[in-house]
Amino acid sequence: MKISRYNQLIEKDNYLILFNSISNAILYVEPNKVKEVKEVLESGNIEEIKLSDEDIEKLKKGLYIIPDEFDEITYLKMRLNNYKYSDRFLRYTISLTEECNFSCVYCYQQMLITLMDKKPAKIAKNIVNTILNMTEKRFEEEHPKVLSITFYGGEPLLALDELETLSKGFEEMCKKFEVKYEANVVTNGYLLTHDIVNRLLNCGVNSVIITIDGDKTLHDKYRKTKSDKPTFDKIMENINYAQDKMYVTIRTNISKNSIENVKKMIKILAEKGWRVDFDFQPVEVVEELSTGFNDEMLTLREFANVEVELYKEVITLIPDYPFNPFRRLRMARCDALCKNSCVIDVDGSIYKCWGEIGNKFSSVGKITKEDIELNHKFEKWITYEPFEDQKCMECSVLPMCMGGCVFNAVVVDRLNSSPWRKPYTCIPLKYNLKEMVSLLSDKKLGVKI
Ligand code: SF4
Ligand code: SF4
Repeated sequence: MKISRYNQLIEKDNYLILFNSISNAILYVEPNKVKEVKEVLESGNIEEIKLSDEDIEKLKKGLYIIPDEFDEITYLKMRLNNYKYSDRFLRYTISLTEECNFSCVYCYQQMLITLMDKKPAKIAKNIVNTILNMTEKRFEEEHPKVLSITFYGGEPLLALDELETLSKGFEEMCKKFEVKYEANVVTNGYLLTHDIVNRLLNCGVNSVIITIDGDKTLHDKYRKTKSDKPTFDKIMENINYAQDKMYVTIRTNISKNSIENVKKMIKILAEKGWRVDFDFQPVEVVEELSTGFNDEMLTLREFANVEVELYKEVITLIPDYPFNPFRRLRMARCDALCKNSCVIDVDGSIYKCWGEIGNKFSSVGKITKEDIELNHKFEKWITYEPFEDQKCMECSVLPMCMGGCVFNAVVVDRLNSSPWRKPYTCIPLKYNLKEMVSLLSDKKLGVKI
């Protein structure tokens, strides 16, 4: 037996918390066994182990200690390939319209449309039909178990008829082929009235992701309507109804300037007693795509600290908040590397990454009358492997990250299709894994040995 290279040891209140980033297992070691377990895991001297057979079994089960012949990198390569080439999931992100009712200060999608003096387009009926037909064909040929759809925009609720046609079609197809249907909408929340919530539920969409960037003062500064009206109050009114009927995730973009306003936002939502999830993301400012937005970006390390701080706030103010970033095994930062995941633009162009919508140079294919026609840029995505990168090979969160955001590695370096690079590649867990595990342990999850 040997020691896994993906263990994290965290000492807390006389306990030792063990975390393994391949298995996501969390184990609490009782104070009287801490010295022994720590010595064994730190020295690698397994022969000297003085624990009971039962305790050793628990360490084996969590992959903290592993058989000599278990090469973790080989295993991760196999797991990544399974994930990339699996037919189990079919995932589409569908951009329904380029039009938006907001003019957010940092939105370069809308800025590009204005610069190009372009009329925002909506998804055409023939593309909607092809998407439905090709999905049915995939169901017949590849037998996926889950169809996962994200409706995207612009503001997707401005194309509600198209959304309904697609979602009803998917729902019926899923019933017929016994496939699980998961659908969500990424919306600014302004149009999410009672009536629209009910229409979404009636066509199988039960999850929404709404961006709120802080309390009223800050949100209304960043996210106004096209006619320059504030949006915070209306969105909150809409969430009040929606959170009772569907899964609502509040996505918040954080800059150096917004942290205190975000804390106030958490307090407001907590006081209302609403059931919402929080998703904190760092604001990304790309100089080449200047929108005039001049908030200071956090470094990823700074964001990682802020993320822990914000979740502490959430857990303190909402004691029953189901915080657990390790609930599900995460195979990668996003699904762009998967064969059966794609982003479909309003004109039927196919991309692998959300950030690529509209960049024709990196499009990996297009929708034809009957199906998808892929080009050879597709392979550049699918064959990306983090194992070629020394930094990743030495990284303790590689099993959960697999090279992070691969935009720079694929779109910039392999496809030469972007003149600008994304500011972040790594995931925040690289810097806050121990703190996140420790935070979770406060909620007393895991098994004691
Ligand atoms: S966090 Fe960064 S270094 Fe670590 S695996 Fe992800 S991309 Fe690679
Ligand atoms: S921007 Fe990066 S993380 Fe996001 S979808 Fe694209 S490749 Fe994935």
